[in-house]
Amino acid sequence: MEIPIRILIIEDSETDKELLLRELRRGGYNAEYLCVETEEAMHSALDKCEWDIIISDYSLPQFDGLSALKIAIKRNPDIPFILVSGTIGEELAVQAMKQGASDYLMKGNLKRLIPAIERELKDAQIRVQRKKTKAALKESEIRFRVLAESAPVGIFTTDNKGMTNYVNPRWTEISKLSFNEAMGNGWLKAVHPEDRDKLNSNWEQTALEHSSSKAEYRFVHPDGNVAWVIGNAVTQQDKNGNVLGYIGTITDISERKKMEAALIIEKEKAEESDRLKTAFLQNISHEIRTPLNSIVGFSRIIADADLSPEACENYATIIENSSNQLMSIIADIIQIATIEAGQEKIQENEINVNEVCTLIYDQFSADARIQNISFICNPGLEEVAAYVMSDGSKLAQVLNNLIRNALKFTKNGTVSFGYQLIGSDLQFCIEDTGIGIAPEMQTEIFKRFRQVEISPTRNFGGSGLGLAISKSNVELLGGRIWVESEIEKGAKFFFTIPYKPSRVAIVENNSVEHTLYELPNDLKILIVEDEKAVNIYLSLILKNIGKEIVHAENGFEAVEICRKRNDFDLILMDIKMPEMNGYMAVKEIRKFNKEVIIIAQTAFAISGDREKAIEAGCNYYITKPIGRIALFEMLRLYF
Ligand code: ADP
Repeated sequence: MEIPIRILIIEDSETDKELLLRELRRGGYNAEYLCVETEEAMHSALDKCEWDIIISDYSLPQFDGLSALKIAIKRNPDIPFILVSGTIGEELAVQAMKQGASDYLMKGNLKRLIPAIERELKDAQIRVQRKKTKAALKESEIRFRVLAESAPVGIFTTDNKGMTNYVNPRWTEISKLSFNEAMGNGWLKAVHPEDRDKLNSNWEQTALEHSSSKAEYRFVHPDGNVAWVIGNAVTQQDKNGNVLGYIGTITDISERKKMEAALIIEKEKAEESDRLKTAFLQNISHEIRTPLNSIVGFSRIIADADLSPEACENYATIIENSSNQLMSIIADIIQIATIEAGQEKIQENEINVNEVCTLIYDQFSADARIQNISFICNPGLEEVAAYVMSDGSKLAQVLNNLIRNALKFTKNGTVSFGYQLIGSDLQFCIEDTGIGIAPEMQTEIFKRFRQVEISPTRNFGGSGLGLAISKSNVELLGGRIWVESEIEKGAKFFFTIPYKPSRVAIVENNSVEHTLYELPNDLKILIVEDEKAVNIYLSLILKNIGKEIVHAENGFEAVEICRKRNDFDLILMDIKMPEMNGYMAVKEIRKFNKEVIIIAQTAFAISGDREKAIEAGCNYYITKPIGRIALFEMLRLYF
């Protein structure tokens, strides 16, 4: 079978051309050819089609073989170029080969033509194939880069020893390492110290065995944040099975880890709550049964006609005490239910904190004496200053519970309680020398049903509700509660309530008096304030400068009063009030009275309040709690 071949012949001699064609036919080739003898003709021939081979004479009348070679290489260096000449010398042949000719032949020795063509075609085929492979490789490399650069997972590659030689942008984003920092085994530095050794030895093993690997580990970022990742790597092998390196991915699983941790906490909470509920039911049933047993048992005994009146009296007292105990447990359960339903409210009245303390002291002193515990009460304010606005029964309930606990958990030593004025709060402290509370339980015990001891063989009774109720009561009163304690040394429970004095113990001093003398004593003053305690306080401190002091409880009332009379010298305007707030009231009043001095009083020194007050039409602004001297000093600016 003839082999088709396309040949461009550059030759001026018809005979030589025929000789070439004959040789080709002999070699089994069916040549499709074109014969040219000028440069232009060569160009147009090259334009026409892709030639398999070019065979050129060395010298032509209007052209020459070396120029043809140059053109051929320029146009397509892959087409083999064979120079044929009758006269070519050794030197020229070498020059032609140097310039890129594939071979040269003597016209007199055309026997070499066929083997030369065969060889050159084969070489050309290999060259073309290699080029194609190179181009395909380049294309696949570009494809890999594009994919890797935009992939949503971290990608890395290593050499066959496991040394990193590429990471994609997502990888650097997850690890917060730069490309350069990650190279070699630099990436290990960012791995969490606890994961590093295990991961490194796993990786070394993988590299040694040329196996694939999978691991979960953490990267620590420069700011201390931790990213959890899952890493996978597989070997890259050539077609003979030699390992070229590894290619792997890392996926950020921090969110999943967070969710897992949250779920574990939730699960533990649920289990804990279940355990607590069971413990609570056991306790409560024990706490209810104990007094109930006494009530039932002694009621039967009392019915016995043979009992002496003293024994009867004695048993009746036991029944009464047990009933009270039962009632208090039921009251606790009901109260916690009300608290949880958000129904618990406070009722503020004027109370005397010292009186509350005395009552509580009287209530527990007998118990303390029986227990041989010294019991001390330290009120922290003078009588007149101890009148405050608060909810007396809630305060008593908190003290009651904390002192009952102190006596319950103290075998010997002292239980003392009292309070002090610290800043704008009354801080109560109930201190005992009892069993103390371990640090890890010091916040837990304020949760409902939490007790340090939850075993069924408990030494102390109780429902575990007292501190939860106390905490909620203290918070309703506007304060906070906490404990400081050391095991076996005792406990100090603290709680605060805001100090809202209702009768002001005016501490006279020279500077106040001095300021007072400089102020007039016949001012007509309107106090706009919804808090009773503050109203009383302001009236007391203003009584020496005010000929007439009028009160309004909200903005509406204030505007109404001012509409009826325009002879006020001074208005002290609270800002936060029901119905109509202070800003709105001042704006209204300013519509018809531009003269009166209006001082805004706000509870908090929030930035912007001052500007708002002035904008609304106030002359000045003062922050609560209002100090007497500060108020007088300010009034001196206007009167
Ligand atoms: P109860 O006393 O009814 O168990 P509480 O809520 O009043 O419930 O107290 C919860 C737990 O706090 C108590 O069971 C006890 O373990 C611990 N505790 C409270 N007060 C003291 C104290 N003064 N000394 C030691 N432990 C205390």
